[in-house]
Amino acid sequence: MNIEMDKSENQELIELIELVSRLKKENEQLIIRVNELEEKLNIQQNSLLNNNTNSKLKESVLQKTITFDKALPTETPIYKDLTLAEYMLYGRQLILPDLGKSGQLKLKNTSILIVGAGGLGSPAAIYLAAAGVGKLGIVDYDKVEKSNLHRQIIHNETREGISKAQSAKMTIEGLNSLCNCVAYEILLDSLSALEIVQQYDIVVDATDNVATRYLLNDACVISGKPLVSGSALRMDGQLTVYNYKGGPCYRCLFPKPPPPESVLNCADGGILGVVTGVIGCLQALQAIKIATENDESPNNLLIFSATSYPLFRSIKLRSKKKDCVICGDHPSITKLQDYVQFCGSGALDKSPSVKELGREDRIEPKVYHSLRNETPHVLIDVRETVQYDICSLPSSINIPLKDLTKRIEDVKKLLETPNTSVYVICRLGNDSQHAVNILKNYLKGEVKDIIGGLYKWSLEVDQEFPIY
Ligand SMILES: [Zn+2]
Repeated sequence: MNIEMDKSENQELIELIELVSRLKKENEQLIIRVNELEEKLNIQQNSLLNNNTNSKLKESVLQKTITFDKALPTETPIYKDLTLAEYMLYGRQLILPDLGKSGQLKLKNTSILIVGAGGLGSPAAIYLAAAGVGKLGIVDYDKVEKSNLHRQIIHNETREGISKAQSAKMTIEGLNSLCNCVAYEILLDSLSALEIVQQYDIVVDATDNVATRYLLNDACVISGKPLVSGSALRMDGQLTVYNYKGGPCYRCLFPKPPPPESVLNCADGGILGVVTGVIGCLQALQAIKIATENDESPNNLLIFSATSYPLFRSIKLRSKKKDCVICGDHPSITKLQDYVQFCGSGALDKSPSVKELGREDRIEPKVYHSLRNETPHVLIDVRETVQYDICSLPSSINIPLKDLTKRIEDVKKLLETPNTSVYVICRLGNDSQHAVNILKNYLKGEVKDIIGGLYKWSLEVDQEFPIY
Protein backbone atom coordinates (compact mmCIF):
# COMPACT_ATOMS: atom_id res chain seq x y z
CA MET A 1 0.00 0.00 0.00
CA ASN A 2 2.77 2.34 1.03
CA ILE A 3 4.67 1.49 -2.11
CA GLU A 4 1.54 2.30 -4.17
CA MET A 5 1.25 5.71 -2.48
CA ASP A 6 4.92 6.45 -3.09
CA LYS A 7 4.44 5.60 -6.74
CA SER A 8 1.48 7.97 -7.14
CA GLU A 9 3.30 10.73 -5.24
CA ASN A 10 6.32 10.26 -7.47
CA GLN A 11 4.11 10.39 -10.54
CA GLU A 12 2.55 13.61 -9.33
CA LEU A 13 6.00 15.13 -8.72
CA ILE A 14 7.22 14.16 -12.16
CA GLU A 15 4.12 15.64 -13.78
CA LEU A 16 4.60 18.85 -11.82
CA ILE A 17 8.24 19.14 -12.90
CA GLU A 18 7.23 18.55 -16.49
CA LEU A 19 4.50 21.16 -16.29
CA VAL A 20 6.85 23.78 -14.80
CA SER A 21 9.43 23.00 -17.46
CA ARG A 22 6.85 23.28 -20.27
CA LEU A 23 5.46 26.56 -18.94
CA LYS A 24 9.00 27.94 -18.58
CA LYS A 25 9.71 27.10 -22.21
CA GLU A 26 6.44 28.69 -23.34
CA ASN A 27 7.26 31.76 -21.27
CA GLU A 28 10.71 32.02 -22.88
CA GLN A 29 9.18 31.70 -26.34
CA LEU A 30 6.64 34.42 -25.52
CA ILE A 31 9.44 36.72 -24.34
CA ILE A 32 11.36 36.09 -27.57
CA ARG A 33 8.19 36.80 -29.59
CA VAL A 34 7.55 40.06 -27.67
CA ASN A 35 11.19 41.10 -28.28
CA GLU A 36 10.85 40.39 -32.00
CA LEU A 37 7.64 42.39 -32.24
CA GLU A 38 9.15 45.27 -30.24
CA GLU A 39 12.13 45.27 -32.57
CA LYS A 40 9.85 45.38 -35.63
CA LEU A 41 7.87 48.20 -34.05
CA ASN A 42 11.05 50.13 -33.27
CA ILE A 43 12.32 49.86 -36.84
CA GLN A 44 8.99 50.99 -38.30
CA GLN A 45 8.64 53.90 -35.88
CA ASN A 46 12.22 54.99 -36.44
CA SER A 47 11.97 54.87 -40.19
CA LEU A 48 8.72 56.87 -39.97
CA LEU A 49 10.42 59.42 -37.69
CA ASN A 50 13.42 59.55 -39.96
CA ASN A 51 11.47 60.04 -43.15
CA ASN A 52 9.17 62.67 -41.82
CA THR A 53 10.36 66.18 -41.11
CA ASN A 54 6.99 67.31 -39.77
CA SER A 55 7.79 67.88 -36.11
CA LYS A 56 4.14 67.63 -35.02
CA LEU A 57 3.86 64.17 -36.55
CA LYS A 58 7.19 63.22 -34.97
CA GLU A 59 5.90 64.28 -31.59
CA SER A 60 2.66 62.35 -32.01
CA VAL A 61 4.58 59.21 -33.01
CA LEU A 62 6.88 59.57 -30.02
CA GLN A 63 3.88 60.17 -27.80
CA LYS A 64 2.36 56.92 -29.02
CA THR A 65 5.66 55.12 -28.38
CA ILE A 66 5.74 56.35 -24.81
CA THR A 67 2.11 55.37 -24.16
CA PHE A 68 2.65 51.97 -25.70
CA ASP A 69 5.88 51.36 -23.80
CA LYS A 70 4.14 52.17 -20.55
CA ALA A 71 1.35 49.73 -21.35
CA LEU A 72 3.80 46.93 -22.07
CA PRO A 73 6.74 46.37 -19.71
CA THR A 74 9.96 46.92 -21.67
CA GLU A 75 12.56 45.93 -19.09
CA THR A 76 14.89 43.23 -20.28
CA PRO A 77 13.52 39.92 -19.03
CA ILE A 78 15.52 38.53 -16.13
CA TYR A 79 17.07 35.30 -17.30
CA LYS A 80 18.02 33.11 -14.38
CA ASP A 81 19.90 30.44 -16.30
CA LEU A 82 21.87 29.76 -19.44
CA THR A 83 20.65 27.49 -22.21
CA LEU A 84 22.68 24.51 -23.43
CA ALA A 85 23.58 26.48 -26.57
CA GLU A 86 24.94 29.30 -24.41
CA TYR A 87 27.12 26.98 -22.33
CA MET A 88 28.68 25.83 -25.59
CA LEU A 89 29.04 29.31 -27.11
CA TYR A 90 30.57 30.99 -24.08
CA GLY A 91 32.46 28.06 -22.51
CA ARG A 92 35.91 29.63 -23.01
CA GLN A 93 34.95 32.78 -21.13
CA LEU A 94 32.62 31.06 -18.62
CA ILE A 95 35.63 29.35 -17.04
CA LEU A 96 37.31 32.69 -16.36
CA PRO A 97 37.30 33.41 -12.61
CA ASP A 98 36.69 37.08 -13.47
CA LEU A 99 33.49 36.26 -15.34
CA GLY A 100 32.05 32.87 -14.39
CA LYS A 101 28.42 31.88 -14.83
CA SER A 102 27.15 34.82 -12.80
CA GLY A 103 29.00 37.27 -15.08
CA GLN A 104 27.68 35.54 -18.20
CA LEU A 105 24.12 35.80 -16.85
CA LYS A 106 24.64 39.50 -16.20
CA LEU A 107 25.74 39.94 -19.83
CA LYS A 108 22.66 38.02 -20.97
CA ASN A 109 20.46 40.37 -18.97
CA THR A 110 22.23 43.54 -20.13
CA SER A 111 21.17 45.85 -22.94
CA ILE A 112 23.74 48.14 -24.57
CA LEU A 113 23.11 50.98 -27.02
CA ILE A 114 25.92 51.66 -29.48
CA VAL A 115 25.62 55.03 -31.17
CA GLY A 116 27.59 54.98 -34.42
CA ALA A 117 28.30 51.89 -36.53
CA GLY A 118 31.62 53.22 -37.82
CA GLY A 119 35.26 52.68 -36.90
CA LEU A 120 34.62 52.52 -33.14
CA GLY A 121 31.15 50.98 -33.23
CA SER A 122 32.22 48.11 -35.55
CA PRO A 123 34.61 46.30 -33.17
CA ALA A 124 32.57 47.33 -30.11
CA ALA A 125 29.37 45.79 -31.53
CA ILE A 126 31.11 42.65 -32.81
CA TYR A 127 32.77 41.87 -29.47
CA LEU A 128 29.72 42.72 -27.36
CA ALA A 129 27.48 40.51 -29.50
CA ALA A 130 30.03 37.69 -29.47
CA ALA A 131 30.43 37.96 -25.69
CA GLY A 132 26.72 37.26 -25.17
CA VAL A 133 25.19 40.67 -24.40
CA GLY A 134 21.43 40.06 -24.44
CA LYS A 135 20.30 43.11 -26.38
CA LEU A 136 22.29 45.48 -28.59
CA GLY A 137 20.86 48.65 -30.11
CA ILE A 138 22.75 50.15 -33.05
CA VAL A 139 22.08 53.73 -34.09
CA ASP A 140 23.38 55.09 -37.39
CA TYR A 141 21.72 57.29 -40.03
CA ASP A 142 24.47 56.82 -42.61
CA LYS A 143 25.04 54.38 -45.48
CA VAL A 144 27.92 51.93 -46.03
CA GLU A 145 30.70 53.53 -48.12
CA LYS A 146 33.73 51.74 -49.56
CA SER A 147 36.07 54.54 -48.48
CA ASN A 148 35.23 53.75 -44.83
CA LEU A 149 35.68 49.96 -44.92
CA HIS A 150 39.35 50.18 -43.87
CA ARG A 151 38.04 50.83 -40.35
CA GLN A 152 34.29 50.06 -40.39
CA ILE A 153 34.83 46.31 -40.44
CA ILE A 154 31.32 45.29 -39.43
CA HIS A 155 30.27 46.11 -43.04
CA ASN A 156 31.57 44.75 -46.33
CA GLU A 157 31.85 45.60 -50.03
CA THR A 158 28.60 43.88 -51.00
CA ARG A 159 26.64 46.17 -48.67
CA GLU A 160 27.75 49.47 -50.23
CA GLY A 161 24.90 51.98 -50.13
CA ILE A 162 22.73 50.17 -47.57
CA SER A 163 22.00 51.45 -44.07
CA LYS A 164 24.95 51.02 -41.68
CA ALA A 165 22.58 50.19 -38.81
CA GLN A 166 20.97 47.39 -40.82
CA SER A 167 24.33 46.16 -42.12
CA ALA A 168 25.67 45.98 -38.55
CA LYS A 169 22.55 44.07 -37.49
CA MET A 170 23.11 41.57 -40.33
CA THR A 171 26.70 40.92 -39.21
CA ILE A 172 25.68 40.58 -35.57
CA GLU A 173 22.85 38.16 -36.35
CA GLY A 174 25.25 36.07 -38.44
CA LEU A 175 27.77 36.05 -35.61
CA ASN A 176 25.44 35.35 -32.68
CA SER A 177 21.78 34.63 -33.36
CA LEU A 178 21.06 34.74 -29.61
CA CYS A 179 21.78 38.46 -29.47
CA ASN A 180 18.64 40.55 -29.86
CA CYS A 181 19.88 43.34 -32.13
CA VAL A 182 17.77 46.44 -32.81
CA ALA A 183 18.78 48.72 -35.68
CA TYR A 184 17.86 52.41 -35.51
CA GLU A 185 18.30 54.04 -38.91
CA ILE A 186 18.05 57.55 -37.53
CA LEU A 187 20.08 60.63 -36.84
CA LEU A 188 19.80 60.80 -33.07
CA ASP A 189 18.40 64.17 -31.97
CA SER A 190 16.95 65.78 -28.87
CA LEU A 191 13.50 64.46 -29.81
CA SER A 192 14.50 60.79 -30.07
CA ALA A 193 17.61 60.39 -27.85
CA LEU A 194 16.03 60.15 -24.42
CA GLU A 195 13.32 57.78 -25.58
CA ILE A 196 15.92 55.34 -26.96
CA VAL A 197 18.63 55.77 -24.27
CA GLN A 198 16.10 54.99 -21.51
CA GLN A 199 15.56 51.52 -22.97
CA TYR A 200 19.20 50.48 -22.42
CA ASP A 201 21.48 49.86 -19.42
CA ILE A 202 24.74 51.19 -20.89
CA VAL A 203 25.42 53.61 -23.76
CA VAL A 204 28.52 53.44 -25.98
CA ASP A 205 29.36 56.71 -27.73
CA ALA A 206 31.05 55.67 -30.96
CA THR A 207 30.28 58.86 -32.87
CA ASP A 208 32.60 61.39 -34.40
CA ASN A 209 31.01 64.76 -33.78
CA VAL A 210 30.77 67.15 -30.87
CA ALA A 211 27.01 67.83 -31.06
CA THR A 212 26.18 64.12 -30.60
CA ARG A 213 28.67 63.88 -27.70
CA TYR A 214 26.81 66.60 -25.78
CA LEU A 215 23.43 65.11 -26.76
CA LEU A 216 24.40 61.63 -25.51
CA ASN A 217 26.01 63.04 -22.38
CA ASP A 218 22.88 64.94 -21.42
CA ALA A 219 20.57 62.03 -22.28
CA CYS A 220 22.72 59.69 -20.13
CA VAL A 221 22.87 62.10 -17.16
CA ILE A 222 19.10 62.68 -17.29
CA SER A 223 18.34 58.97 -17.49
CA GLY A 224 21.16 57.85 -15.16
CA LYS A 225 23.10 55.65 -17.60
CA PRO A 226 26.89 55.21 -17.81
CA LEU A 227 28.34 56.55 -21.07
CA VAL A 228 31.37 54.71 -22.49
CA SER A 229 32.90 57.34 -24.72
CA GLY A 230 35.61 56.76 -27.32
CA SER A 231 37.27 58.90 -29.95
CA ALA A 232 40.01 58.37 -32.52
CA LEU A 233 41.77 60.51 -35.07
CA ARG A 234 44.91 59.96 -37.13
CA MET A 235 47.17 57.78 -34.90
CA ASP A 236 45.62 58.66 -31.53
CA GLY A 237 42.59 57.75 -29.47
CA GLN A 238 40.89 58.30 -26.12
CA LEU A 239 38.58 56.39 -23.82
CA THR A 240 36.53 57.67 -20.86
CA VAL A 241 33.44 56.57 -18.98
CA TYR A 242 31.19 59.49 -18.10
CA ASN A 243 28.43 59.67 -15.52
CA TYR A 244 29.70 56.60 -13.70
CA LYS A 245 30.61 55.89 -10.06
CA GLY A 246 30.34 59.57 -9.07
CA GLY A 247 32.77 60.58 -11.81
CA PRO A 248 32.40 63.53 -14.14
CA CYS A 249 30.13 63.91 -17.14
CA TYR A 250 31.33 65.21 -20.52
CA ARG A 251 30.18 68.74 -19.61
CA CYS A 252 32.23 68.65 -16.35
CA LEU A 253 35.34 68.27 -18.50
CA PHE A 254 34.24 70.30 -21.51
CA PRO A 255 31.70 72.93 -20.41
CA LYS A 256 31.88 74.68 -23.80
CA PRO A 257 32.10 73.13 -27.27
CA PRO A 258 35.22 73.93 -29.31
CA PRO A 259 34.82 76.28 -32.30
CA PRO A 260 33.48 74.15 -35.20
CA GLU A 261 36.39 75.09 -37.49
CA SER A 262 38.91 73.70 -34.95
CA VAL A 263 37.37 70.22 -35.00
CA LEU A 264 39.17 67.90 -37.39
CA ASN A 265 37.29 64.84 -38.64
CA CYS A 266 38.52 61.55 -40.11
CA ALA A 267 37.78 62.68 -43.68
CA ASP A 268 40.08 65.68 -43.30
CA GLY A 269 42.59 64.52 -40.70
CA GLY A 270 42.89 60.87 -41.70
CA ILE A 271 42.69 57.80 -39.49
CA LEU A 272 44.45 54.46 -39.30
CA GLY A 273 41.75 51.76 -39.13
CA VAL A 274 43.44 49.74 -36.43
CA VAL A 275 43.54 52.80 -34.14
CA THR A 276 39.73 52.94 -34.11
CA GLY A 277 39.87 49.16 -33.64
CA VAL A 278 41.96 49.53 -30.46
CA ILE A 279 39.62 52.13 -28.97
CA GLY A 280 36.43 50.31 -30.07
CA CYS A 281 37.67 47.09 -28.43
CA LEU A 282 38.46 48.99 -25.24
CA GLN A 283 34.92 50.41 -25.29
CA ALA A 284 33.54 46.87 -25.56
CA LEU A 285 35.80 45.75 -22.70
CA GLN A 286 34.73 48.67 -20.52
CA ALA A 287 31.03 48.01 -21.24
CA ILE A 288 31.50 44.33 -20.28
CA LYS A 289 33.22 45.35 -17.03
CA ILE A 290 30.35 47.68 -16.17
CA ALA A 291 27.71 45.08 -17.10
CA THR A 292 29.36 42.38 -14.99
CA GLU A 293 30.08 44.81 -12.11
CA ASN A 294 33.72 43.96 -12.44
CA ASP A 295 35.25 47.43 -12.63
CA GLU A 296 37.41 48.44 -9.69
CA SER A 297 39.40 51.12 -11.51
CA PRO A 298 39.03 54.80 -10.61
CA ASN A 299 37.48 57.16 -13.17
CA ASN A 300 40.18 57.94 -15.66
CA LEU A 301 40.92 59.21 -19.12
CA LEU A 302 42.89 56.69 -21.15
CA ILE A 303 45.01 58.16 -23.93
CA PHE A 304 46.36 55.97 -26.72
CA SER A 305 48.95 57.03 -29.25
CA ALA A 306 50.19 54.55 -31.84
CA THR A 307 53.38 56.59 -32.33
CA SER A 308 54.35 57.07 -28.65
CA TYR A 309 55.99 54.87 -26.11
CA PRO A 310 54.35 53.70 -23.93
CA LEU A 311 51.30 53.38 -26.15
CA PHE A 312 48.89 54.13 -23.31
CA ARG A 313 48.74 56.82 -20.64
CA SER A 314 46.07 57.13 -17.98
CA ILE A 315 44.97 60.35 -16.32
CA LYS A 316 42.91 60.08 -13.16
CA LEU A 317 39.74 62.16 -13.31
CA ARG A 318 38.23 64.15 -10.45
CA SER A 319 34.70 63.58 -9.21
CA LYS A 320 31.86 65.35 -10.96
CA LYS A 321 31.78 69.13 -10.65
CA LYS A 322 29.39 70.49 -8.06
CA ASP A 323 28.55 73.41 -10.36
CA CYS A 324 28.17 71.36 -13.57
CA VAL A 325 25.13 72.64 -15.49
CA ILE A 326 23.68 69.16 -15.86
CA CYS A 327 25.16 66.73 -13.29
CA GLY A 328 25.97 69.30 -10.57
CA ASP A 329 24.08 70.05 -7.36
CA HIS A 330 21.79 72.60 -8.97
CA PRO A 331 21.51 71.69 -12.67
CA SER A 332 20.18 74.36 -15.01
CA ILE A 333 19.73 71.84 -17.83
CA THR A 334 16.93 69.41 -17.11
CA LYS A 335 15.90 68.46 -20.62
CA LEU A 336 17.59 67.98 -23.97
CA GLN A 337 18.48 71.04 -26.03
CA ASP A 338 19.28 72.02 -29.61
CA TYR A 339 22.83 70.66 -29.84
CA VAL A 340 23.53 71.70 -33.43
CA GLN A 341 22.90 75.30 -32.41
CA PHE A 342 24.92 74.89 -29.17
CA CYS A 343 27.95 73.46 -31.00
CA GLY A 344 27.67 75.44 -34.24
CA SER A 345 27.75 72.21 -36.25
CA GLY A 346 25.99 68.87 -36.27
CA ALA A 347 26.54 65.23 -37.17
CA LEU A 348 25.85 65.95 -40.84
CA ASP A 349 28.52 68.66 -41.14
CA LYS A 350 31.35 66.22 -41.85
CA SER A 351 33.38 68.72 -43.85
CA PRO A 352 31.44 71.94 -43.52
CA SER A 353 31.84 74.13 -46.59
CA VAL A 354 33.66 77.35 -45.89
CA LYS A 355 32.27 80.48 -47.56
CA GLU A 356 34.97 83.04 -46.97
CA LEU A 357 35.30 84.51 -50.44
CA GLY A 358 33.04 86.43 -52.78
CA ARG A 359 32.31 85.22 -56.31
CA GLU A 360 34.99 87.57 -57.74
CA ASP A 361 37.73 85.70 -55.85
CA ARG A 362 36.67 82.24 -57.01
CA ILE A 363 36.88 80.23 -60.22
CA GLU A 364 35.08 77.06 -61.32
CA PRO A 365 37.38 74.08 -62.11
CA LYS A 366 36.08 73.97 -65.72
CA VAL A 367 36.88 77.66 -66.26
CA TYR A 368 40.35 77.24 -64.78
CA HIS A 369 40.83 74.20 -67.06
CA SER A 370 40.01 76.31 -70.15
CA LEU A 371 42.59 78.98 -69.31
CA ARG A 372 45.21 76.65 -67.84
CA ASN A 373 47.33 76.42 -71.00
CA GLU A 374 46.50 79.90 -72.34
CA THR A 375 47.17 82.31 -69.50
CA PRO A 376 50.46 82.66 -67.64
CA HIS A 377 49.78 82.00 -63.95
CA VAL A 378 51.00 80.20 -60.84
CA LEU A 379 48.99 77.31 -59.33
CA ILE A 380 49.58 76.78 -55.61
CA ASP A 381 48.39 73.58 -53.94
CA VAL A 382 48.00 74.25 -50.20
CA ARG A 383 47.43 70.65 -49.04
CA GLU A 384 49.83 68.96 -46.62
CA THR A 385 52.81 67.44 -48.43
CA VAL A 386 51.68 63.89 -47.58
CA GLN A 387 48.49 64.57 -49.53
CA TYR A 388 50.29 66.35 -52.38
CA ASP A 389 52.45 63.25 -52.79
CA ILE A 390 49.32 61.11 -53.28
CA CYS A 391 48.27 63.03 -56.39
CA SER A 392 48.64 66.54 -57.78
CA LEU A 393 48.05 68.64 -60.88
CA PRO A 394 51.08 69.03 -63.20
CA SER A 395 52.92 72.35 -62.76
CA SER A 396 51.31 73.02 -59.38
CA ILE A 397 53.55 74.19 -56.53
CA ASN A 398 53.04 72.70 -53.08
CA ILE A 399 53.03 75.18 -50.19
CA PRO A 400 51.01 73.80 -47.25
CA LEU A 401 48.56 76.33 -45.79
CA LYS A 402 50.34 76.37 -42.41
CA ASP A 403 53.58 77.49 -44.09
CA LEU A 404 52.05 80.02 -46.48
CA THR A 405 52.62 83.22 -44.50
CA LYS A 406 56.31 82.52 -43.93
CA ARG A 407 56.82 81.53 -47.58
CA ILE A 408 55.31 84.64 -49.22
CA GLU A 409 58.74 85.56 -50.66
CA ASP A 410 58.90 82.13 -52.36
CA VAL A 411 55.51 82.84 -53.94
CA LYS A 412 56.64 86.26 -55.19
CA LYS A 413 59.73 84.70 -56.81
CA LEU A 414 57.45 82.40 -58.84
CA LEU A 415 55.59 85.32 -60.46
CA GLU A 416 56.72 86.44 -63.93
CA THR A 417 55.51 89.98 -63.24
CA PRO A 418 54.07 91.44 -60.03
CA ASN A 419 50.63 91.18 -61.67
CA THR A 420 50.81 87.49 -62.62
CA SER A 421 47.60 85.64 -61.60
CA VAL A 422 47.74 83.11 -58.78
CA TYR A 423 45.24 80.26 -58.41
CA VAL A 424 44.98 78.21 -55.26
CA ILE A 425 43.73 74.64 -54.95
CA CYS A 426 43.27 72.14 -52.10
CA ARG A 427 41.30 68.93 -51.61
CA LEU A 428 37.76 70.25 -51.06
CA GLY A 429 38.02 74.01 -51.60
CA ASN A 430 38.03 75.15 -47.95
CA ASP A 431 41.72 75.68 -47.14
CA SER A 432 42.23 77.29 -50.55
CA GLN A 433 39.83 80.08 -49.50
CA HIS A 434 41.84 80.76 -46.31
CA ALA A 435 44.97 80.83 -48.49
CA VAL A 436 43.49 83.36 -50.95
CA ASN A 437 42.64 85.67 -48.04
CA ILE A 438 46.26 85.47 -46.86
CA LEU A 439 47.81 85.95 -50.32
CA LYS A 440 45.59 88.94 -51.19
CA ASN A 441 47.38 90.91 -48.46
CA TYR A 442 50.75 90.51 -50.19
CA LEU A 443 50.14 90.17 -53.96
CA LYS A 444 49.16 92.76 -56.57
CA GLY A 445 47.65 90.53 -59.27
CA GLU A 446 44.44 88.54 -59.06
CA VAL A 447 44.34 85.63 -56.59
CA LYS A 448 41.54 83.08 -56.96
CA ASP A 449 40.43 79.91 -55.25
CA ILE A 450 39.45 76.92 -57.39
CA ILE A 451 35.92 76.08 -56.23
CA GLY A 452 35.45 72.61 -54.74
CA GLY A 453 39.16 71.79 -55.02
CA LEU A 454 40.59 68.62 -56.52
CA TYR A 455 37.42 66.74 -55.60
CA LYS A 456 35.35 68.86 -57.98
CA TRP A 457 38.20 68.83 -60.52
CA SER A 458 37.98 65.05 -60.56
CA LEU A 459 34.20 65.06 -61.00
CA GLU A 460 33.96 67.78 -63.64
CA VAL A 461 37.27 67.93 -65.51
CA ASP A 462 39.34 64.78 -65.20
CA GLN A 463 37.60 61.60 -64.11
CA GLU A 464 40.95 59.79 -64.05
CA PHE A 465 42.18 62.05 -61.23
CA PRO A 466 42.04 60.07 -57.95
CA ILE A 467 39.50 60.93 -55.26
CA TYR A 468 40.68 60.07 -51.77
ZN1 LIG B 1 28.83 67.17 -15.26
